[in-house]
Amino acid sequence: MPEFDVQPRGSHFVDGAYIEDKAGAAMEVVYPATGQVIATVHAATAAVTERALVSATRAQAAWAQTDPAERGRVLRRAADLIRARNRELSRLETLDTGKPLQETLVADAMSGADALEYFGGLAPDMTGQTMRFGADWAYTLRRPLGVCTGIGAWNYPTQIACWKAAPALATGNAMVFKPSEATPLCALKVAEILVEAGLPAGLFNVVQGAGDVGAALTTDARVAKVSLTGSVPTGRKVYAAAAASMKHVTMELGGKSPILIFEDADLESTVSGAINGNFYSSGQVCSNGTRVFVAEALAPAFLDRLKTRMAGLCPGDPLDETTNFGPMTTQAQMEIVLAHLDRARAEGATVTGGDRMDRAGFWVAPAVLTDLTDDMACVREEIFGPVMSVLTFRDEDEAIARANATEFGLSAGVFTRDLTRAHRVVAQLRAGTCWINQYNLTPAGMPFGGSKQSGIGRENARLAMDHFTEVQTIYVGMGPVEAAF
Ligand code: NAD
Repeated sequence: MPEFDVQPRGSHFVDGAYIEDKAGAAMEVVYPATGQVIATVHAATAAVTERALVSATRAQAAWAQTDPAERGRVLRRAADLIRARNRELSRLETLDTGKPLQETLVADAMSGADALEYFGGLAPDMTGQTMRFGADWAYTLRRPLGVCTGIGAWNYPTQIACWKAAPALATGNAMVFKPSEATPLCALKVAEILVEAGLPAGLFNVVQGAGDVGAALTTDARVAKVSLTGSVPTGRKVYAAAAASMKHVTMELGGKSPILIFEDADLESTVSGAINGNFYSSGQVCSNGTRVFVAEALAPAFLDRLKTRMAGLCPGDPLDETTNFGPMTTQAQMEIVLAHLDRARAEGATVTGGDRMDRAGFWVAPAVLTDLTDDMACVREEIFGPVMSVLTFRDEDEAIARANATEFGLSAGVFTRDLTRAHRVVAQLRAGTCWINQYNLTPAGMPFGGSKQSGIGRENARLAMDHFTEVQTIYVGMGPVEAAF
């Protein structure tokens, strides 16, 4: 087996440096493509978490007073450093997650750099409002919240760290970030690069650990906000815990998003959209369009073309740039996906593909499910793997009603050449992010997030600046003060 040089210099990055405390439980970092242990880190002890919160609190007070333009310059320098080191960071992302290098070279560190650049540019534009009341007037200031906690999922460890850090830091906050215990490596590099770009020590700390460390960072009185990317059940717990001390939250949670494909849609684009929305990152994408509703008349051609295109699947060594399909990131997730497929078969679905692949590591072949009804578990529940459910519909109203018949509301897609229909349909979809004739693109300038059980708040775009600040209102009296006596 090849050796990988990814053991970090310390498990945590706190107050501008790597630190270690081996009293914390050992966490093995497993390369999902082979099952090989490639590094070991230790979960944060109470002492490590304390250092992270103390240094973040101290650093934030000064950072909030720093000229926002200077804050922005630091973030833009970090974006440049990430771009310059993209290949090295993408390789690390591949080793941490198992995602093919072909993907990580374009979708991970680069997306993180985009967010840092975007919010770096926006940092000086933290503006308020003015209001007149006769001669008196009032104005508002946007103020940073203070110390914010970021908690990440394992599917996009670099991107998630950057999407949370960039708006938090641009607006004058500090962040203590806890990556997923399954992918602890990439956020450490983000912290290292931010310091290299000139970020003062303590403003972006990374501490490792599982849910208990996340919970400690959610309940601490010094934390003003928690931004979580994770599953709906975890979201419910974190939201409730944060509410106890009235903390702000952003919840980026799971989904079971629909893609509606109308009869007049461009066939090739719909198949590409469905492939991207189900098999990219081996299906481990929150916004995936896992319920593909195809107009009955188009369904045979769609399935036929999908079958042909599936021949282009190239699973293999994720570090080989011709590989376009990787393993599941954890053994547990592989087992969850295989169990879902067994249940789908038991419920009467036709499952094409979906076998555990005969090799070391956590590989599941992509699956296309047909002969489905909307009440089957595989159609209702988030699977978070390479599983596409294809359903058919007769008319627009039926498609919309069935698309909305879910507790989730993260995303949705509509494919049609009829522009009026496209806008009419998305206006009726209860989903935080919708795409028309495209799927799963998330540029930094576009708000992203869910409705219903899929979350609260939005990441990216100017909106994220609002979610990391609060309004202070100042009333200005211009005349004498009158009183009853
Ligand atoms: P998860 O909910 O198991 O864990 C997410 C994070 O929360 C981890 O870091 C975990 O350690 C932490 N955590 C667990 N319990 C906690 C607690 N009680 N208090 C504080 N933190 C706690 O999710 P996962 O399996 O890592 O990721 C997959 C899920 O994430 C899927 O549901 C997916 O849809 C979702 N996701 C959403 C988005 C989005 O932007 N909406 C993006 C990626 C993934």
